[in-house]
Amino acid sequence: MATKSLKAKGNDLAVSNKQLEILNGGIFADGELPYFKDKISEIGHFPLRPKKLEILQINVGYMCNQVCEHCHVDAGPDRKEIMTRETMKQCLDVIKNTGAHTLDLTGGAPEMNPDFEWFVEEAAKAGIKDFIVRSNLTIIRANKKYHHLPDFFKKHNVHVISSMPHYTRGKTDKQRGDGVFDKSIKALQELNERGYGMPGSNLRLDLVYNPSGAYLPGDQAAMEKDFKKALKEDFDIQFHNLFAITNLPIARFLDYLIASENYEDYMYALVEAYNPSAVANVMCTNTISISWDGWLYDCDFNQMLDLKVASKVKHIKDYNEDLLNDRNIIISQHCYGCTAGAGSSCQGTVA
Ligand code: SF4
Ligand code: SF4
Repeated sequence: MATKSLKAKGNDLAVSNKQLEILNGGIFADGELPYFKDKISEIGHFPLRPKKLEILQINVGYMCNQVCEHCHVDAGPDRKEIMTRETMKQCLDVIKNTGAHTLDLTGGAPEMNPDFEWFVEEAAKAGIKDFIVRSNLTIIRANKKYHHLPDFFKKHNVHVISSMPHYTRGKTDKQRGDGVFDKSIKALQELNERGYGMPGSNLRLDLVYNPSGAYLPGDQAAMEKDFKKALKEDFDIQFHNLFAITNLPIARFLDYLIASENYEDYMYALVEAYNPSAVANVMCTNTISISWDGWLYDCDFNQMLDLKVASKVKHIKDYNEDLLNDRNIIISQHCYGCTAGAGSSCQGTVA
């Protein structure tokens, strides 16, 4: 189990260019596997273009109380990149004027940003239809100063989406660290007590599953059924939907794939599972991702690879939705993770 980020360890893969070298080289440069660009050209989707903007995803910082094995953000307690109030104010100007219907706050653990609650209060006033906070659950139990979060979320009618790799302690703790399962269960019970995740409740609580090894997720609907049954029977916990997400071969998951000698097999599996009908709905076609320091990206994954949007507008201070919507999306071989099987996005399958 990791205790430090790749960045803190001085690992080569903390540098995005190194990751891109791997993704663009080896079995792809040799012609063993086709480049993603060529695959989507076959169906007339290259260059990949955005459709209507629906989701603004804001990453308020890479600090996290956990150091999960497969984190694509390379987050952890040692990451100090945190969005300032000044950048938050620039985001708020955009939130008030955007055509997007969904605001999605992510991290790290977004709650660890010292201005998180101020930002949620201000952003909630904009009346965005779906206001998501991606909470890792354990943060709610990590420290007394976070114990009130379930009430705070409820007060602002925040939609909580939380990672829960499995309904068993062993698989969850293996991926996310010792004790994570028990704390997550307690946090889910507290959210349920406030009405989150209950049948018919408008306090939305969704869970995210991602595989704990070098394999693709199973059928989302079947897994949701299994999770619902097990969590209800074992802990009397309820939630609304389960999103099954494919691990993309970047950051700590890429490090894991290489260290476990699974990289090539995993890329083969992603390419074999390529589903052309997922391409039209990949997440970057309706999302703009904003980093802690205000730069704009096609998605959270491109943010971690430091692939800024291919647009005249690259920073939140210059935000212009029309100009941004007229751009080509930057792709590489990690994109195969979004088109494998039923497709994958921050809100689950797309095909
Ligand atoms: S909780 Fe999320 S952001 Fe934090 S280390 Fe785990 S996967 Fe990364
Ligand atoms: S990784 Fe990002 S850019 Fe690539 S297909 Fe997925 S959402 Fe789009």
